[in-house]
Parts: sequence; C-alpha cells; structure tokens
Amino acid sequence: MGRRGIRIEKVVPASIASELGIEAGDKLLAVNRRPVKDILEYQYYTSEEVVVLDIEKADGEVWSIEIEKEYDEDLGLVFSGAVFDRLRTCRNRCLFCFMDQLPSGVRKSLRTKDDDYRLSFLYGNFITLTNLDREDWEAIAALRLSPLYVSVHATDSRVRACMLGNEKGGQIISDLNRLRDLGLQVHTQVVLCPGINDGEVLAETVSTLASFWPTVLSIGIVPVGLTRYRQGLYPLQAVDKVKAQDVITRGQAWQRQFRAELGLGLVYLADEFFIKAEQDFPPNEYYDGYPQIENGIGMAREFLDRLTELDNDLPRELPERTRLTLVCGHGARLVLERAARRLNRIKGLEVAVMPVSNRFFGEEVTVTGLLTGQDIERALADSSDEKGIILIPDVVLREDHDYFLDDMTVGELMERSGKAIDVVEATADGLVNYVRRMAREGGGVQWPGR
Ligand code: SF4
Repeated sequence: MGRRGIRIEKVVPASIASELGIEAGDKLLAVNRRPVKDILEYQYYTSEEVVVLDIEKADGEVWSIEIEKEYDEDLGLVFSGAVFDRLRTCRNRCLFCFMDQLPSGVRKSLRTKDDDYRLSFLYGNFITLTNLDREDWEAIAALRLSPLYVSVHATDSRVRACMLGNEKGGQIISDLNRLRDLGLQVHTQVVLCPGINDGEVLAETVSTLASFWPTVLSIGIVPVGLTRYRQGLYPLQAVDKVKAQDVITRGQAWQRQFRAELGLGLVYLADEFFIKAEQDFPPNEYYDGYPQIENGIGMAREFLDRLTELDNDLPRELPERTRLTLVCGHGARLVLERAARRLNRIKGLEVAVMPVSNRFFGEEVTVTGLLTGQDIERALADSSDEKGIILIPDVVLREDHDYFLDDMTVGELMERSGKAIDVVEATADGLVNYVRRMAREGGGVQWPGR
C-alpha cells in the first residue's frame, strides 16, 4: 500500500464495513495504525477481535474506526488485487525463460516476469526465492505462508546459478534450510533442459530434495517449453521421445523408492513426458492427490478418470442430431479422442477432435492453453469438413475475458470463420454438463450464451 492507501473496490452489503458507512471508492490507509502491503497482511491483521481502521473518504476526510467483532469475522471490504504495493518481479535471466521467447505482438501484461511470494502462496505461482529481502522473509515467517511453490531446477549450486543467470540461484540449499527451520513447506519444480539439468544432475536434485521431505512436499518435473522465437538465446534442446522415455524410467524408480521409504511417490512427471514418449498416463494412485495438477501434472489422468465417474450422467440420446468438434492442442489429442469415442455412443451425437497446430508460438508448443485465435481460425479454414458446433476449451481464453492470447475475441473468430462456436469448461465435468444441457435443451448454445 502506498502512502495514499488502497482503494476499496466494493463493500459487501450488510457487512460490518457497510454498517459503519465505509463505501466503495474510499481508501484504506492503515489497519491497527500500520499500512498493509497485500491481501495476506490485511486478512492477518483484521482477523483480531479488535481492529482499528484508518479510512480516507472521497472528500478527503480521514476516519479512524475501532471495531469489535468475532475473531476471524470478515469486515466486508473487497479490493481489486491481492498485492497492494509493488509486484515482486524476478531478478533472474533464466536460460529457458518462456517470456523471452514470446513473439513481439504479445501484450505487455503477458511479459510480466512476476516472482512474488504472495502470488506463490495465493495462486501456486512458482517463485525462485532469489529476490527476497529481509522484510519479505519476515513476512513469510509471520504470516506462515505455506506451502509455497518453488522453482528449483537443480540443487547443484553452480548449475542452478547458471540456469537462473543469477548468482543467488546457488543459495537454494540454504533457502530450503531456512524454510525448514521456519516449519514451512514447499512444492518444487524442475524445468528439464536436456544436457543441462538432466541425467546425474537430475538424480542429485531429486535425492537432495527428497532429503528435505516433508519440507519438500512434491517434486514436479516438466519439460522445457521452446517457441520458435529463440534467436540470439541460449541454444536449448527440446525433450524428445528418447529423453522422455529415459525420464519416465528414472521417475518410476524414484517413485518406487520413495513409496517404500516415505509412503508417497514424491516425484511426479508432467503429462507431456508421457505424450512425447507415446506411453499411457499413469494411474490415479501415481499422483497422490495431484499436488501439481495446475502445472500440467496429472491433468490427463484426472480428466479420463472423472469422465468414467460421470459415465452414468451422460444421456443415451439427443433430441436432435448434433455435431460437435472439440478443439485442442496436439498434446491433448489422445485424451480428447478417448472422450469422443465415449460421446459418440450417444445416439444423435457425433463428436470429432480437431488438434490445432500452434503456428503463433511454433509447432513445438502443443499445450492447448497456448493456442491463439488465429491458429484456430487457420485450422478451421484449412478443413472443409462440416464441423457442427466448434467447442473451444475455456483455457485458451484470458481469465474472465473472451479473448485469446493474440487479442482476437471469440465473437471475431465466429465472424471470420463463419462457424458456430461455443466455449466449454476444459474439464470432464464441463464437457459432460455441456452434453447434458444439449440433451435437455435440444442443441448447443452458441457464444456468449453460456
Ligand atoms: S524466474 Fe526465470 S523463468 Fe521465471 S520469469 Fe524470471 S527469468 Fe523467466
């Protein structure tokens, strides 16, 4: 929070704040006479039974209000963001940074290199711990921010410092010791770069991180993502089929060892390894509750198992004949083809899968979430088949908006392609609910009628 306070976006009706006359547009100057720099501090300091708020009203008058309430009772103030001071950005120059490989047209906000411990705790963003100062460590300790999500990549100090392009990267062991001493826990990730942190470096990383269990709750391994915009950058190799098979074999051995020693697998591989290796995804038990599903680890298995669980909820037939085309990146093709096989057993429904090549970032990029409007438009134009309703998974759209990464809107895509397009939640529940709604309402509902 700056000297001028943080703007209150909304006041919950009938809340303590609303009864006290605090309004949207007022500014919160301090809680218990101290400024708060993020939503975590705000929640921590307002959880007390007696709270003093300094509020600046729209006319500049400052109110100091003492409030008595139940412990943990919410005051009813809503803010527009989680971070009130400055977003912590990274001080690294990682060899593999995805942000450095974006095409020039990509919006500036997408290039933000955040490395903020608050966003790590709140949203599971991976951080490197290399930009924390004394005050940040004190806040992490005082607010008990656990678990955090930490990008380790390598525990060998020289390898990590080199990968991060930052000497401070070499301090990972002392950072982990510090977290252990504070009684805090972390989920960790390794971005695997062949020839740099694979082989023996990876073996040492896994073994060292495992020695920190239960401070280290999980070790996720994901393959490096490479776009076609790497001119002038470090010459990295992609993970190919042979490398993916090698990592899977090592991963299975580590899982066996840690299950015997710790009672859980601890090391989890991204779905992309199994896709690249052309192997089936491991069973549900492999993932121990999916601690890193947002990191692309276990999404495929969770989707397939959930689809099986929902099997009885699917209708036997649709009232009118309907065609659906499921859009995805090449990485999700096999999973969606399995879903389509099941859906095609519904009388009156015909489902096809349309894997779309990512020309915007480069064809090496196969994740669905990075498809752009122009990629989908091109794929629709290239195919002359009758496609019925085009179903776009919501992960390709910017959160809470209806535009793609390249700023094209869903409406523009409909106009340009001339196709009926709808957006569906990218989960098994989303797909099943969509089909159930078609069974009830007699057809797909077109955007923006979700
Ligand atoms: S920490 Fe590394 S990978 Fe992450 S944004 Fe910074 S430079 Fe990029």
